[in-house]
Amino acid sequence: MNKELMTKRIAENLEHLKQFTATPNKGCTRLPFTKEARQAADYLKTIMKEAGLEVKEDEAGNVFGFIYGSDTSLPCVMMGSHFDSVVNGGDYDGIAGVICAIEVARQLKNTNPKRTFVAAAFCDEEGMRFGTGYFGSGAILGNRTPEYCRTFTDKNDVSIYDAMLEYGLDPEKIENAKWKDNSIGYFIEAHIEQGPVLHAENTQIGLVDCIVGIDRYMVTVHGRSDHAGTTPMNMRLDAVDAATKVISKIADWARETDDGSVATVGYIKTIPGGMNIVAEACEFTVDIRSRNIENLEKISAKLHDALEHEVKAMGGSFDIQNKLAITPVNLDKSMLHMMEESCKNHNFSYRYMHSGAGHDALEIGQVIPTAMLFVPSKDGRSHCMVEHTEYSHFGNAALIMTELAEKLTSN
Ligand SMILES: [Zn+2]
Repeated sequence: MNKELMTKRIAENLEHLKQFTATPNKGCTRLPFTKEARQAADYLKTIMKEAGLEVKEDEAGNVFGFIYGSDTSLPCVMMGSHFDSVVNGGDYDGIAGVICAIEVARQLKNTNPKRTFVAAAFCDEEGMRFGTGYFGSGAILGNRTPEYCRTFTDKNDVSIYDAMLEYGLDPEKIENAKWKDNSIGYFIEAHIEQGPVLHAENTQIGLVDCIVGIDRYMVTVHGRSDHAGTTPMNMRLDAVDAATKVISKIADWARETDDGSVATVGYIKTIPGGMNIVAEACEFTVDIRSRNIENLEKISAKLHDALEHEVKAMGGSFDIQNKLAITPVNLDKSMLHMMEESCKNHNFSYRYMHSGAGHDALEIGQVIPTAMLFVPSKDGRSHCMVEHTEYSHFGNAALIMTELAEKLTSN
């Protein structure tokens, strides 16, 4: 294997893909079922064919490249990531993992694998356009229906269903995108870290052993609006007063865990929102992430208790709506161990770490043995146009993943 050549090809492919954005010179904006998504998908098909893969686009808009093994009855080895982006995002989030997988396939082509190898490019992981996520990876597991496609719409009120029709897909056939049970034996995803750890430590490879679970809530505290000057402190039902007493504790609950759990209040709104009005309501979001389900549950319970306590003391009421609940996923130890051995053999610096962001591997890892590998993000920046990773890191990832794929496809 020639790592320099692999890196050079990965760099060329990623440079070429940079043009498929709706916001030239303002980062990558490649939303699902758009012209830019179509251009990128077509380019991926072209380079897959050039690499000698058999190409298929499925009913969900995912693109797959196959190298058939000598025993097609065995569950395949699938590797890949997503080819959509957020608005004004980076040029490597997702798509670099797709290009690395195609490079791995190119290397495997000459090894006569026993198992089939599949390079995968998933459609709409980010959920940016329709407020969803993991659309394509969910579809291969059978989790998407025509009804689902009709349910979610973008800010122009275009449904996934209509966007798919416009893109040339038939949403009525979305369920055909499901792969047969036990047809995928392993899934591996390479991705930029999107956080600061590897870059700060000057570590080349992150072996991801866990993707955190997420609990997300929308909370509304109800009080009563009154005149801010004339209503005595002991006679008001101040929604902001009660809500902020709860909010001020949330980050500390996460800090008190010893496993890196995080909790974020990213949105606060007061109603009606006047300088001289006691607020009748205060809305806020809470996003809790942890590798341990016990800590997700513990922080959620503290949130509920604090709301009970503070809102009762104020004399108002509250609603709490669970918007998202994802259980943490532990990734496959044996695949991680094989990649660790490769890192040692090549003298790559590495560390084990968890992923605080969701990925296609989170969706797929719920049911299929899955591993993930991170490469450094400069200053940890991502989901913004300054996102940057040196191409040599993608070459390292492709090398490690090729060695893993060789082992997995040979028996
Ligand atoms: Zn991503």
